[in-house]
Amino acid sequence: MAVDLYSIPVKQVHGIKGKKPDELLALGISSVGELLDYYPFRYEDYTLRDLTEVKDGDKITVQGKIVGVPQVQMYGRIKSRMTCKIMVDSLFITAVWFNRHYLKPQLQADAEIVLTGKWDQKRLHLTVSESEFPGKGTSQTGTLQPVYSVTGTLPQKWMRQTMKQAVTQYGHLIPEILPHELLDKYNLMPRKQAVTLLHQPGSLAEGLQARKRMVYEELFMFQLKMQAYRAINHDRADGVAHQLDLPAVRAFVRALPFKLTTSQKQVLAEILHDLQQPFCMNRLLQGDVGAGKTVVAAASLFAVVKAGFQGALMVPTEILAEQHKRSLSKLFEPYGIEVALLTGSLTDRQRRDVLASLQMGMIDVVVGTHALIQEDVYFRQLGLVVTDEQHRFGVNQRSILRRKGMNPDVLTMTATPIPRTLAITAFGDMDVSTLSELPKGRKPIKTYAVSHDKLDRVIGFIRREVASGRQAYVICPLIDESEKLDVQNAIDVHAQLQFAFPEYRVGLLHGRMAAAEKDAAMRSFSENQTHVLVSTTVIEVGVDVPNATLMVVYDAHRFGLSQLHQLRGRVGRGEHQSYCVLLADPKNEVGKQRMQAMTDTNDGFEIARRDLELRGPGDFFGTKQSGLPDFRLADLAADFATMEQARDDAAEFVRRPDFWTAAVYSPLREYLQREDVFQNELLD
Ligand code: ADP
Ligand code: MG
Repeated sequence: MAVDLYSIPVKQVHGIKGKKPDELLALGISSVGELLDYYPFRYEDYTLRDLTEVKDGDKITVQGKIVGVPQVQMYGRIKSRMTCKIMVDSLFITAVWFNRHYLKPQLQADAEIVLTGKWDQKRLHLTVSESEFPGKGTSQTGTLQPVYSVTGTLPQKWMRQTMKQAVTQYGHLIPEILPHELLDKYNLMPRKQAVTLLHQPGSLAEGLQARKRMVYEELFMFQLKMQAYRAINHDRADGVAHQLDLPAVRAFVRALPFKLTTSQKQVLAEILHDLQQPFCMNRLLQGDVGAGKTVVAAASLFAVVKAGFQGALMVPTEILAEQHKRSLSKLFEPYGIEVALLTGSLTDRQRRDVLASLQMGMIDVVVGTHALIQEDVYFRQLGLVVTDEQHRFGVNQRSILRRKGMNPDVLTMTATPIPRTLAITAFGDMDVSTLSELPKGRKPIKTYAVSHDKLDRVIGFIRREVASGRQAYVICPLIDESEKLDVQNAIDVHAQLQFAFPEYRVGLLHGRMAAAEKDAAMRSFSENQTHVLVSTTVIEVGVDVPNATLMVVYDAHRFGLSQLHQLRGRVGRGEHQSYCVLLADPKNEVGKQRMQAMTDTNDGFEIARRDLELRGPGDFFGTKQSGLPDFRLADLAADFATMEQARDDAAEFVRRPDFWTAAVYSPLREYLQREDVFQNELLD
């Protein structure tokens, strides 16, 4: 019988006592299993180096013999600089210690010493960070030492010792979970060995082998979960096979004020196909800003309503909800389709009315924020949920609906461009559709980056656009993530611009305004009652006013690249030439690279690639924006090939009947059970 390391409390490891269990808990570690899963994020290299092979500035460890008398210079009572001549191989170097003159008595002539520090090639100086005398006590010389991410209260050294102890006590009990066929296929080491080596690699090569094994495991388990969801969903066939009136949908599309792009047609066909299948659609629709996702959603909702069901459109902000409500009402009006709004700013009475009409089926399509599908909201027959510009429609939300006896198709739309291959893999439980082109006739947005001292000219530019009938957005700087200061800024800029343009109306929009005020501000801008809209980033996503042709961003260097691209996407939505002016500090280095990227390209996928480059994969993929999963070891950019292998393997596994029965796969099935993959099943 295997021991479950996750049920053994950490205090069973010798040396973990007193406050330590609590401090470990702050890192999310309460069991031995979790402790062993806490891998180092890098290694400190104490292997001995040959001075002929190192470079200036390297951090190195060398062994030598003390040949001189240490010299100490004091600066006050605590600060000091101590130097000593050391012979390393046949070279005399100077070791330098700062503020550690208390070591002086130990520096005896002729003694052997091991020094770690930063190498100054020109002066043959080594600035020492750590020193050891061979043969005395435990030694780290010649080893790689793991570096753990620890908080102030847990010293790195303690963590190293504790991990060592944990590995000694429990390492032999670490169970294998991958079947042999996979270990053999990729030549992976057993789990026991991999975990041990991750904590205590003999060499960097060993550490990398161990990492390879654990990265594969991490990605395989993730994919197994995704593929299992998918398989269960497809097998269950308990969705609605909608009887679509395709000629009516075609007529709806033909009546639109524009022709769909090839890409839109194709994506719509994919969705309509899914809607007619007996399983639940779970599809991701991604497309760059301005690619025209909304109208695809509208046609899909139309199809479902015509088939006798209701639809819901979920958006992240009230501003967007209002906007979508308006445009859907306009599109659906000729067909007698009822659209309603359900947001937090309805009065109790209004809300009660909407809820009642929804339940009775008098409302066909409801638009609202997240709470829309939760709590006390009941539909007569919900057929399709569309989520716009937000994160995935989670398993949780699905099960909330299922509990209410609804099992709708789900379409998730996102404007965060993720390379298609990556999306397919990372969202393994969804099907992915991509809008790969913008509507025809769009003129590429011209983007300029200028410094703030050009503000006068920028104001002149705004005047020119407004004078020719167009409109402009002015986005105010973010300050220290403090919403209060952002708001103050917007208020100040608004006052300045209203002063500069006495002949025009300047609107204001920020997060502290009441919902009704926000809506009024947005509405008057979209109806061209206000000509310039000063706003915080609340308009970042989704807002659609085709007559707006100029986007000005103050302090643009403070914004992330994807965010700037989203903001720029608010213009260039109509037939007029559009512009984006980024006011940025030319001395800000990161900012400069971002401005370069923005002026170089309008392509969201290219922007995402540059963003990834500038921020590093950890950051990019870690952001909530991307909605991509976070991994312990794996790096989606560097380990992408492994992710693809893992996906193919996992997909094959769940298709095999013996996967669900054979004893060798029981650790994998137990994992799926723990991860609640079968949760929906149990609810039935
Ligand atoms: P996003 O994909 O960013 O959500 P929207 O759906 O808001 O984009 O569409 C952007 C603008 O393009 C809207 O004003 C919309 O009416 C318009 N549009 C959508 N599809 C087409 C098309 N095929 N031809 C011309 N304009 C279109
Ligand atoms: Mg949109």
